[in-house]
Amino acid sequence: MIPVAYLIASVCFIFGIKRLGSPKTAPSGNLIAAIGMAIAVIATLLHHDVIHYGGIAAGVILGSVVGALVARRVEMTAMPQMVAAFNGLGGAASALVAAAELVRLESMGISPPPQVGVPIVAGTLIGAVTLSGSFIAFAKLQELMDGQPLLFPGQQIINALIAVLIVALCAQVVIDPAATTSFWAMAALALLLGVLLVIPIGGADMPVVISLLNSYSGLAACATGFILGNQVLIISGSLVGASGIVLTNIMCKAMNRSLFNVIFGGFGATQEMGGGATGERGPVKSGSADEAAMILDVARSVTIVPGYGLAVAQAQHAVRELADMLGQRGIEVRFAIHPVAGRMPGHMNVLLAEADVPYEQLVEMEEINPSFPRTDVALVLGANDVTNPDARENPSSPIYGMPILEVDRARTVMVVKRSLNPGFAGIENPLYFLPQTMMLFGDAKSMVERIIAALKEV
Ligand code: NDP
Repeated sequence: MIPVAYLIASVCFIFGIKRLGSPKTAPSGNLIAAIGMAIAVIATLLHHDVIHYGGIAAGVILGSVVGALVARRVEMTAMPQMVAAFNGLGGAASALVAAAELVRLESMGISPPPQVGVPIVAGTLIGAVTLSGSFIAFAKLQELMDGQPLLFPGQQIINALIAVLIVALCAQVVIDPAATTSFWAMAALALLLGVLLVIPIGGADMPVVISLLNSYSGLAACATGFILGNQVLIISGSLVGASGIVLTNIMCKAMNRSLFNVIFGGFGATQEMGGGATGERGPVKSGSADEAAMILDVARSVTIVPGYGLAVAQAQHAVRELADMLGQRGIEVRFAIHPVAGRMPGHMNVLLAEADVPYEQLVEMEEINPSFPRTDVALVLGANDVTNPDARENPSSPIYGMPILEVDRARTVMVVKRSLNPGFAGIENPLYFLPQTMMLFGDAKSMVERIIAALKEV
């Protein structure tokens, strides 16, 4: 019965992930995957190797309480670091299971054959790298350590030497599983490697790193599945491994950067020189909520462009109210979603879904870009880099080539942000100096609320 239950659980995982592909089917996908996980857990608990339930029950209760509390209390903007911490713990769990299996077999005088030895070292190695790497990512995003890339001479060579040493120790343990000192040395070096691999990466690139480490945690779980002969762990680990890589790839593409550049490029260390001028800057035109309301009132089409600042200001409910209000006046309202707007993939979708913005109003970048020249108002709310025309026009810009939302082609652009300060990439945005652009300086939530109040008066 257990393998059958595992098969059903695996099918649930696959269907669950498939349904996560669209916001409409995502809630049921999540539920199906959760049911699959429940089936997998119950089936595992029925295994005859499980001899007492006390410790397991304590772990389940403690883990569930901590998990639920953390998940409920975390701010939307702190979601990436929470995912990082959970990934790290997933890696740690796999590494501990792998190490425990080696210790168990050794204590029984059994020398694990290579088909068990290889997954033991692989699970420990990948799990340990995931653990320490994820916690560095967590610390950078939580600002417990400097988010700037930490670069030092010979960094790559040192990393390469440690990697070679780890491979040699792994080989030694597989050939002679009694070499436990080498095993523990390998685990310690893997922890060190995790730290060294992540410190040269800038804080703002962390979501990509987290997605990659998520993929690693899946591979570590997969290795553990081979050690324990547990099919559902092998399948779910592979799913996590593959989907993490796919997501990493999507994020890199959306930033027009290679994974190599993200990991070794030290992006963010050279922010100051980013400047990137496309010519003379005109004066900045700033406006008030009243002026914005008057322009919006006579518009026929408005495209709202949400960005990281919307999440910081928690303006999603206010913006929904504004969109509804404009809609009631017969104005066509759409939301333009850039794949890396915010600080994690799908950040804007989640945020707007929280405020019940209808999915039909959310339009992907490729689809909405051609319509900007026919758009009366592009209302940019706390988005910056994803609207920077330099990415399209200025080859010397650090973000040159990154696909952008072409709001500069709209008839009027209104930008809500608190200052002219740069966004994540640390570079100036020429959008703010265009003649058709009006800056609305202020916190996104309070500015939108003021525009709503002003619209009621119009
Ligand atoms: P940006 O980081 O470019 O800009 C956000 C802007 O929001 C800032 O310029 C800031 O300006 C403004 N802001 C902050 N707080 C508020 C507030 N309370 N009210 C109003 N405005 C506010 O964000 P984007 O979403 O445009 O771009 C995302 C960036 O993150 C991209 O460069 C992307 O490559 C990067 N990134 C995204 C990932 C993802 O998965 N989404 C992954 C890795 C990187 P001011 O201080 O003047 O208010």
